[in-house]
Amino acid sequence: MRIILLGPPGAGKGTQAEVLVKKLSIPHISTGDMFRNAIKEGTELGKKAKGYMDSGQLVPDEVTVGIVQERISQNDCQGGFLLDGFPRTVSQAEALDGILAEMQTGLDAVISIEVPKEKLVTRLTGRRVCRKCGATYHMEFNPPGQDGACDKCSGELYQRSDDTEETVLNRLSVYENQTAPLIEYYSQKGLLKKIDGDKPIDQVLVKIGESLGRNWA
Ligand SMILES: [Zn+2]
Repeated sequence: MRIILLGPPGAGKGTQAEVLVKKLSIPHISTGDMFRNAIKEGTELGKKAKGYMDSGQLVPDEVTVGIVQERISQNDCQGGFLLDGFPRTVSQAEALDGILAEMQTGLDAVISIEVPKEKLVTRLTGRRVCRKCGATYHMEFNPPGQDGACDKCSGELYQRSDDTEETVLNRLSVYENQTAPLIEYYSQKGLLKKIDGDKPIDQVLVKIGESLGRNWA
């Protein structure tokens, strides 16, 4: 199955993607992860991407489309893939259509996980990460036992630069502005599956399964 997973930051897209790829035995292609790895390794692509991501902006199309094309042409994608974080714009979607047409294939479904904006802001600004071991907490939903310290290793907890309220609001409006036309684009192609993401994780997964004709209840 060739699937695109859409959803604003904080909609639980990453969590759903992890389970989905196991259930469907397809690779998870997260452009965000690909960029983060490149940044960690300090590659040319990583340096370019970092500037945009730090300010909540999107990485330019030619950079993103190029790495996606390279990735989905690899052997492990022959039986399908799950795209996460791409495409984000109609022009990226058109580029993807072109790539897939060249490969003589096409998409099976576009899953859009939808969550009200206020809930996303709460979810995103409350996240804290341990500097030492990388454990994640949430000030509201999963607070540490002791303020500002990791339960597992006593490391210092910090707020990632892309989790501050200003950056979060910017990310959400960037997402809305760029993705609304994309949702329309896939809706017109009859590929769009809208999923209510304001539910417990396992219920959201069951709904995604239903939309793909699978019974995961
Ligand atoms: Zn820790």
